[in-house]
Amino acid sequence: MLEIKELQKTYRNGVKALDQVTLSVGRGMLGLLGPNGAGKSTLMRTLATLQTPDSGRAFFDGIDILKNPVELRKLLGYLPQDFGVYPGISAQKLLDYFALLKGITAKKDRRRVIEEVLEITNLSDVAGKNVDGFSGGMKQRFGIAQLLLNNPKFIIVDEPTAGLDPAERNRFLNLLREISVENTVVFSTHIVEDINDLCGQVAILHRGKILLHESPSEAVDDIRGKIWTATIDKIDLEVTMSKYMVLASKYSSPLSITIRVFSENQPSSDFMPAEPQLEDVYFAALAMNGHPTAQPQFAS
Ligand code: ADP
Repeated sequence: MLEIKELQKTYRNGVKALDQVTLSVGRGMLGLLGPNGAGKSTLMRTLATLQTPDSGRAFFDGIDILKNPVELRKLLGYLPQDFGVYPGISAQKLLDYFALLKGITAKKDRRRVIEEVLEITNLSDVAGKNVDGFSGGMKQRFGIAQLLLNNPKFIIVDEPTAGLDPAERNRFLNLLREISVENTVVFSTHIVEDINDLCGQVAILHRGKILLHESPSEAVDDIRGKIWTATIDKIDLEVTMSKYMVLASKYSSPLSITIRVFSENQPSSDFMPAEPQLEDVYFAALAMNGHPTAQPQFAS
């Protein structure tokens, strides 16, 4: 169980990256969703014992993360956002090196555990290949292989899907789901689809604050009956946006735009009720907290 209590962090330049962050997370997968600059990496690095907050507390399975980082690291697997790989070295050799660093001194223990993590991450076939020639998705799976070496119970993965194509992303997320069955996995993303179906829980972080923390299906149920859609003339967009909470907009023809609006009641007879989605939850939470909504997208 991960318990985060009132974490607070202001950088020297005055940016408040964490503002009273309180979260309680059991086994399974938590998706930490937020736009760039929300404070996700700051929170991840703090939980991974790589930086300290100004105040607040954090515990994992009773271990005080801030006071006892050495103990926490024994249970921790961390994949940072900018995980680099060494050039000209095979997956097998690099894992052997990481395993040694993690204190697995007996060669046969290392061999066994490396075989296991390569199997889990579906990299056994390429174990002898150089890691720097791997695709983005393979590199990220290699990142998971290295963090699994010490059989962690608490796994932190910072924006792992950025830059992956949809097939690689799905494969990677399924891997995370597998390893989250018995462990606590926290992963951050700014991509709403990463959360759908896969995460038992979602938390939205914005300007250092947790805006919402529940299961994706509960979050969607909370806005049921409050999402409306209409197709408007392009020239009316600005006025409509000033009148209603427009969550998303998409060109439906060169001159018309289909919009999704959050409203307790039907905004006008031009609007039809829409089936709520997690994306609506996210954009509504951000919009209610002063985050501007995106410009209309061109229909794909
Ligand atoms: P995210 O991971 O959600 O993009 P970050 O935790 O990286 O967010 O950053 C949160 C805020 O803190 C941003 O405004 C960022 O510019 C600022 N920030 C992050 N690291 C530092 C730092 N070392 N010094 C000063 N400001 C920082």
